[in-house]
Amino acid sequence: MAGMVIIFDFDKTIIDCDSDNWVIDQLGATQLFETLLPTMPWNPLLDRMMAEIHAQGKKIYDISEVLKKAPLDRHVASAIRYAYALGFDLRIVSDANVFFIEEILKHHGLIECFTEINTNPSYVDGDGRLRISPFHDFTISSHGCLLCPPNMCKSKIVERIRSEGKKIVYIGDGKGDYCPSLLLGHGDFVMPRRNYPLWDLIQSDPSLVKAEVQEWSYGEEEERVLLQIIRRSEYVDGYRPEMLPPADCKMGLMPGKAHEPLQKALRVPL
Ligand SMILES: [Mg+2]
Ligand SMILES: [Zn+2]
Repeated sequence: MAGMVIIFDFDKTIIDCDSDNWVIDQLGATQLFETLLPTMPWNPLLDRMMAEIHAQGKKIYDISEVLKKAPLDRHVASAIRYAYALGFDLRIVSDANVFFIEEILKHHGLIECFTEINTNPSYVDGDGRLRISPFHDFTISSHGCLLCPPNMCKSKIVERIRSEGKKIVYIGDGKGDYCPSLLLGHGDFVMPRRNYPLWDLIQSDPSLVKAEVQEWSYGEEEERVLLQIIRRSEYVDGYRPEMLPPADCKMGLMPGKAHEPLQKALRVPL
């Protein structure tokens, strides 16, 4: 296993939209969502919206079908498959929810590339309604971080991953990705999406971020920047630049079984 963990946010980082907004908009519940938004925190509001959607006769199947249509750039899929094939440890830290993320990743054949999906729990109840609960149960106690929403401080998760001793690449776009970006140190990388809240926050005082910052703006650039970091990585034993795919390479065609020999060939001794 290459000695670097690549942590992805999900919304607007792996998919090119916000999955919560996508489902609500596609199922015609935008107006109600906007009415309720000023009155409730985001995470409980999503659970409430799933109740409303269910009451309107929409089934889990309808939510799944909508999720399958969420835009996911083929370059991002390529980058994920390629980093996985090289033996990198890929994880997700997201304020979406398990159901949304798993449905989308399964649809694109990417779910097996990730060793962890850290996000808000969700399940389908006996009535066929999707229930969404907070990752951190703020009704019991606060996570104590003032930068983050009450249901999730991503730093608490990234801190645990860092304690495993590997260097980190963190890719994100949102406000919630700022707190974990501040946690990273020398030798780590942050990849903020240009002109999105994480990038703005980093720009406001770059000296606060110790990790190397490499920005990107769209899927193709996200892939290129990530592969450049991988190319520079000293953590891939036996890595050669020619292993990088050409820019238009369709890594999606790589069969799952082909991963194993490549992974073994590149594994570094612990
Ligand atoms: Mg995001
Ligand atoms: Zn935080």
